Amino acid sequence: VTASAWVDWAQAQVAASGRKRGGARHAVLELLGAQTCAVSALEIEDALRQRGRREVSRASIYRILDELERLRLLQRVQTGQAMVRYERVRDSRDHHHHLVCDRCGLVMPFSDAGLERAIDRLSAEVPLTVSGHEIVLRGACRDCRPAAGAPTGS
Ligand SMILES: [Zn+2]
Ligand SMILES: [Zn+2]
Repeated sequence: VTASAWVDWAQAQVAASGRKRGGARHAVLELLGAQTCAVSALEIEDALRQRGRREVSRASIYRILDELERLRLLQRVQTGQAMVRYERVRDSRDHHHHLVCDRCGLVMPFSDAGLERAIDRLSAEVPLTVSGHEIVLRGACRDCRPAAGAPTGS
């Protein structure tokens, strides 16, 4: 799914929910459509500023993110630093999972075909109609890795 196809699809979902089109929401959708991985509200705000969209207030960015999340167009990625990141919901061929550093909050995407096959197989066996999944591996990134032999805590 290309970024613009995602934006069109998301706009259609918003319209189907009975909401009016809005310039601020469209700007946020275009930005999210172009991201390769999850971004924070502050990063979205910065990016909008850089694009000259100064009229979009922080409060309206949070309101729009909240609304898009409720419409299941966005998913939250919790980084363990009280810093929430948002990512557009991707289809099964396009999606990825996350490696999260508990120390510095770094988020890296990863994907694995074997993992997806294992989840598909499991999904057919569990007493749940599975509509999605998300996998987060937590730990310390290369820059934050504790010295050898040091206790890792948690
Ligand atoms: Zn991601
Ligand atoms: Zn780190």
